[in-house]
Amino acid sequence: MPRDYYEILGVAKDASQDDIKRAYRKLARQHHPDVSQEEKSVAEEKFKEISEAYEVLSDEEKRKIYDQYGHAGVKNQFSGGGFSWDDFTHFDDLRDIFSGMGGFGSIFDMFFGGSSQGQRGGRSAPRAGESLRYDIEISLEEVLNGRSEELSIPHSTNCESCSGSGAKDGAVETCPECGGAGQVQMVRNSSFGRMVSVVECRKCQGAGRTFKEACPRCKGAGRVQKTSKINVNIPKGAETGTRLRIAGAGDAGYNNGPPGDLFVVVHVRDHPVFRRDGANLWVDLTTTYPRLALGGEVEVPTIDGEKAKLKLAPGTQVNSVQRMSGKGLPRLGAGARGDQFIRVGIKVPTKLSKEERELLKKLDGKEEGKGGLFENIRKK
Ligand SMILES: [Zn+2]
Ligand SMILES: [Zn+2]
Repeated sequence: MPRDYYEILGVAKDASQDDIKRAYRKLARQHHPDVSQEEKSVAEEKFKEISEAYEVLSDEEKRKIYDQYGHAGVKNQFSGGGFSWDDFTHFDDLRDIFSGMGGFGSIFDMFFGGSSQGQRGGRSAPRAGESLRYDIEISLEEVLNGRSEELSIPHSTNCESCSGSGAKDGAVETCPECGGAGQVQMVRNSSFGRMVSVVECRKCQGAGRTFKEACPRCKGAGRVQKTSKINVNIPKGAETGTRLRIAGAGDAGYNNGPPGDLFVVVHVRDHPVFRRDGANLWVDLTTTYPRLALGGEVEVPTIDGEKAKLKLAPGTQVNSVQRMSGKGLPRLGAGARGDQFIRVGIKVPTKLSKEERELLKKLDGKEEGKGGLFENIRKK
């Protein structure tokens, strides 16, 4: 799965355009393949990754789409269904950045073929489709029981009318422009001078194949959008960040490549009563002073929805922790449940009846000789 653009640039979600530009400039210098300590192909890949993130986040419109729909949303903004250097619009920024570093060096190769030529030629080879991400929020009760859900997932699929070829009746022919290679030599006049480079064939978009008449159903794209119903079972014990992979439920592949996957990412909502600590649950319970002093049963809420009885020993202290075995959450992939921990507090009444007041006064008087009951509590 592609990394988060904000994470790639190391900026906050609400970063200003200045912050984004500054972060990109810094990283671009760092990952320049000529100065980077990394292997050239690794540095090139990183350089491309930060440039893709910059391309999207520096454009408020693309950024908005990304914030709302993630990678799946912006990939259609790129010409080949994914980012390539052809989509990069900030060469001027790069010229500024590298003017003090003796120019572009290897970066030239990256932009205009060169060492990445193999990848470009790879356009006509089968390629897997993009993977999609779906975020789902579940409650703590659903962590206990698991949850089955039917998701509606919009994704692309191969057009059935033309078997994904884009040609009417599937009548495909070899591209006359590139002779099936998917790439052509091109001379560019740029601000850096005149350059011969190998670029993707515009006629066939690198596929090496073309057609006289486009398929009327997909208008030559070879793929159509559709919404599929996907059943997912979120397992018991799922945690925030748990990722379920549904193989093949992503976007259609290219040139007969396999489809991408769907990743369902779980987020567990906070609970108003229980706090989660792995498979254990914590809950606060307040009861009366007599109940703590004398001992006895109290009712405790459980994640199962029923109240459980908890026995307090005589002399149970405020802030002591009681444990109920097996009343926690199941562990992911294991049957056994964790425990529930109960932190005991005291409920001090704010309004007293006359009778209660008399009783408490009496009690306070009795305790006075031992240093005073309420003073002791205060010292704790
Ligand atoms: Zn071609
Ligand atoms: Zn079609």
